[in-house]
Amino acid sequence: MGISRNTLLWASRNDWLKNRIPKMKFVQKAVKRFMPGETIEEALVAAKDFSKKGIPTTFTHLGENIQSLNEAEENTNHYLILLDKISNDKLDIEISLKLTQIGLDLSFDKSLELYSKIALRAQELNNNIFIDIEDSSYVDKTIAFYKKIKENQDNIGLCLQAYLYRTLNDLKNLIAIKPSIRLVKGAYKEASSIAFPKISQVNTNYMRLSKYLLEQSRENGIRVAFGTHDLMIQEQVKNEAKKIGLQKDKIEFQMLYGIKSTEQVKLAHDGYKIRTLISYGEYWYPWYMRRLAERPANVTFILKNIFNK
Ligand SMILES: Cc1cc2nc3c(=O)[nH]c(=O)nc-3n(C[C@H](O)[C@H](O)[C@H](O)COP(=O)(O)OP(=O)(O)OC[C@H]3O[C@@H](n4cnc5c(N)ncnc54)[C@H](O)[C@@H]3O)c2cc1C
Repeated sequence: MGISRNTLLWASRNDWLKNRIPKMKFVQKAVKRFMPGETIEEALVAAKDFSKKGIPTTFTHLGENIQSLNEAEENTNHYLILLDKISNDKLDIEISLKLTQIGLDLSFDKSLELYSKIALRAQELNNNIFIDIEDSSYVDKTIAFYKKIKENQDNIGLCLQAYLYRTLNDLKNLIAIKPSIRLVKGAYKEASSIAFPKISQVNTNYMRLSKYLLEQSRENGIRVAFGTHDLMIQEQVKNEAKKIGLQKDKIEFQMLYGIKSTEQVKLAHDGYKIRTLISYGEYWYPWYMRRLAERPANVTFILKNIFNK
């Protein structure tokens, strides 16, 4: 019997495991499948490789639920330095970050101030940044945050999750401010009172939301990125776009580093927009557990490798 999605998502939040698992050598090795390394430099090397294949990237410096505003300031400075490096290297690399990495748990206003700093610097450098979406307890706050920050700056996108029942309404409420949206299925453990429990239902909702977003993209020119590795969904999105007269180069997919890499290159080759999200940093444990939970067979693969050695 394999390890279930729920067990892995529970493990992602367990402090005892959080303090032990990242120290294990074989886990440190296994995590490399999903990230090029812990430093900016390693991430930049990977981005340059993608760039050669015609694939721009998005960077996330791993971290979430920080405990002090000092850490929030440090993380902000990290992103400011990163933006300058990207600009100096003349690379097409956007940024995406979690609001709890810059203090949303501690102060809405302070995190807004810090995010604005990053967004402003990105704007000066002609770059865009996204807001990751976290578990459902943050969705209201994150949308309020997005609306507030969009009052002054336009270079910001928001990620939303198809597994939540509420997302179509959220999208409809956001349309007036011309959002940039990255649509994903959703990576957290959520109750069936607020999220579709079956993957087939999530997929159906993903397509329902995609159709709405593609129409909005055609009518209002909003930027929409489909953040999924699900090739069947990608096909349906392509077909739907074609049906309503959207050109290939208006369809953007976003995928994670290390997952379905050949298909990423193929999308670029076929004339679609594709952007790869590269995560890096030392604080990879909860993020890595969520990646394992997306495909619990990943764990079996790791265990088999250990016992084979
Ligand atoms: C660019 C991007 C940004 C994201 N940002 C967020 C965010 O801000 N908030 C959030 O909640 N979630 C985020 N996610 C994660 C997302 O919610 C899903 O958990 C994740 O993408 C897996 O769903 P899927 O759409 O790929 O479909 P699935 O049905 O889960 O997977 C489809 C197929 O892709 C492959 N696959 C998927 N995941 C993996 C994996 N980890 N390892 C190996 N193979 C895999 C498998 O072959 C699987 O059969 C993001 C995902 C992407 C691609």
